[in-house]
Amino acid sequence: MTDFVQLWLQKIPQTGFVPLDGVDLEALLQRLADRLHQGTDGREVGAELVRAHLTDPEVLAQTLPLIADRELAGAVAAGYAQALRQATMAEQEQLTRAVLQGHASVERALRASESRLRAIFHHAAIGIGVSTMDGRIVRVNQAFADLLGYTVDEMCTMTVPQLAHPSDPPGMWQLYEEMIRGERDHVRLEKAYPRSDGGAVWTDLTSSLIRDEQGAPELTIAMVHDITEPRRLQESLEHQATHDPLTGLPNRTMIAAHLERIFETAGRVGLCYLDLDGFKRINDTLGHLVGDALLVAVAERLAGCADEPCRVAGRMSGDEFVLAVRDPSGPDEMRALAERMLTELTRPYEIGRHHLRVSASIGVVDSDVGATTPAELMKAADLTLYVAKSEGRARYVMYDADRNARQSARYALAAAMPDALDRGEFSVVYQPLVSLADERPRGVEALVRWQHPLLGELSPSTFIPLAEETGVIVALGRHVLEQACAQAADWARRLPDTPIFVSVNITVAQAHEPAFPSEVAKILADTGLDPRLLVLELTESAIMDTDGAPLAALDGLADRGIRIAIDDFGTGYSNLAYLRRLPIHILKLAGPFVDGLRNPASASEGAAVDEQIVETIVRLAHALNITVTAEAVETRLQADRLRQLGCDTGQGYLFSRPLPPDAILPLLHKSGPRFAAHP
Ligand code: C2E
Ligand code: MG
Ligand code: MG
Repeated sequence: MTDFVQLWLQKIPQTGFVPLDGVDLEALLQRLADRLHQGTDGREVGAELVRAHLTDPEVLAQTLPLIADRELAGAVAAGYAQALRQATMAEQEQLTRAVLQGHASVERALRASESRLRAIFHHAAIGIGVSTMDGRIVRVNQAFADLLGYTVDEMCTMTVPQLAHPSDPPGMWQLYEEMIRGERDHVRLEKAYPRSDGGAVWTDLTSSLIRDEQGAPELTIAMVHDITEPRRLQESLEHQATHDPLTGLPNRTMIAAHLERIFETAGRVGLCYLDLDGFKRINDTLGHLVGDALLVAVAERLAGCADEPCRVAGRMSGDEFVLAVRDPSGPDEMRALAERMLTELTRPYEIGRHHLRVSASIGVVDSDVGATTPAELMKAADLTLYVAKSEGRARYVMYDADRNARQSARYALAAAMPDALDRGEFSVVYQPLVSLADERPRGVEALVRWQHPLLGELSPSTFIPLAEETGVIVALGRHVLEQACAQAADWARRLPDTPIFVSVNITVAQAHEPAFPSEVAKILADTGLDPRLLVLELTESAIMDTDGAPLAALDGLADRGIRIAIDDFGTGYSNLAYLRRLPIHILKLAGPFVDGLRNPASASEGAAVDEQIVETIVRLAHALNITVTAEAVETRLQADRLRQLGCDTGQGYLFSRPLPPDAILPLLHKSGPRFAAHP
């Protein structure tokens, strides 16, 4: 016998059931334990307990804590409750039949011989009551009187309508009327009876009509069986399934059902979708207990905002909550509600010895129910919440259909990226980096392209920011780096006399990955590329650590012979003096500066200033042994002016657009054309 079964055997009080002796019980529990161990069949195990007459509520109460898996325990409880319910009904069915059979004699002589009926009456464990057609209760048994907390005599002074209860199902009293009129012979339903102590008892009620010898309605017999316990169990299971255990608020399942109901029965619907700002940090720094306590406090305040019957607050998951509104008067009501939620939530919290403040972001939707579906409404609110987050948090944002469409497209694109990477939809094109002195290529910049099956070729400015948001950039960046290094190694083998370097863009997220330097080293080793032929292009923000110090990894990379370029220089907040402290080899001047040199003949004031800036940057860079590359060189005038200002390298449509590797190779040959010949 396993420990589990031994423990179970001790826990189950051997009351409330008859047919099993100790040995059988052990065998039964062993069998059920095996099934539980397999992890399936929880409901069936619960039902088996009832079938073995282990119907004392203590049995379930003692069993559940033994089952570690909460889901499995839930299934056992649900199976138990259902089986108990069915068993109760079946029992009552039998009794009903017995009473009615007893009553068969009534047809002959109701008043003369009631002995059989009387016997059943007195000994039945279920409540039985007889009433006349005008509703007077003329006879009840002890069980019925006990159930309602009266004496038999007291009950015999009452009328049937006095036993009405607020929770009586609609139409119930109409059924009773029909029976009185002789239009129906039986009614069966679940009914609550008011008790003398002010409480209520839930019963399974069967009411039957008794006719006189001419067939006219004469009496009604009600048989009631107490189902308060199974019902309570059922209700608590339902509550568990539809409420969040931590905060007690309706959970995602219940909110979904609630929205369905609003969509079926209301005209308009409003939804506030709320997420706490920075909750993870509170959890991480103060611990989960404080985090949980905060969530409970937040839930209370939200429930306080749902102070009208048309409003329901719920918890979706983690620190996400919703407040659903039936038939809001319009966007203004929703705005006012969102504002009130924000005000409520930002009041300080006292949790243990902590004095906490949080803010929240809310996405608010207000819609005609005909214009959307519950699922779309949720999604729209969720996306709008995301907008509130990205606009700086601690605010609410109202849904906007156009923006939502754009956001959805972005989401779809972001979600498609990992698979697209696996399917090889990303390729790399190369754009020559040309020495301005002789206008021959010295290197190429690797630029990624996404050949999207439906949308065609997508530019990196569309998808790189998305890849950064979702984290796919790490895998995508590695792919580009591998491709580019393999390509450059191939060119190095084909053109041994013309070293061509490859310049690869690296984003902030990639540069900050701890494994980044070792990954670069591995790719170089795998592809056999000389580190001196690799340039990594980083933006100013990627070069800095979060605390404003230069990224330590750069020194290690530079020590290997890899060169580092600052991309789009001049678009950030460059501190030129800082350059001295960085292991930087190349500055890439951002397009806007070069733009100003487009037509110096126009001699606009801006152009003159741009020239001075470029000249200053070039001079400073050279003093620090840093070469300067000009981006977006589109005209001959620009190229000439840049060379005069001392720029070393140019990149742009004047020389070549980015091209696939095959098209690039002819341009790289030493004997190939000088770009100047191809304006
Ligand atoms: P970037 O690194 O500054 O790349 C130069 C961009 O300027 C390229 O755009 C290029 O096609 C474009 N360009 C080249 N010549 C000219 C010209 O004469 N005039 C104008 N107006 N533009 C020119 P592209 O390929 O669309 O790339 C845009 C940005 O996307 C890149 O800017 C870079 O920041 C990013 N990117 C591209 N490929 C990758 C990659 O593999 N990894 C990462 N992390 N970022 C990449
Ligand atoms: Mg670049
Ligand atoms: Mg650039």
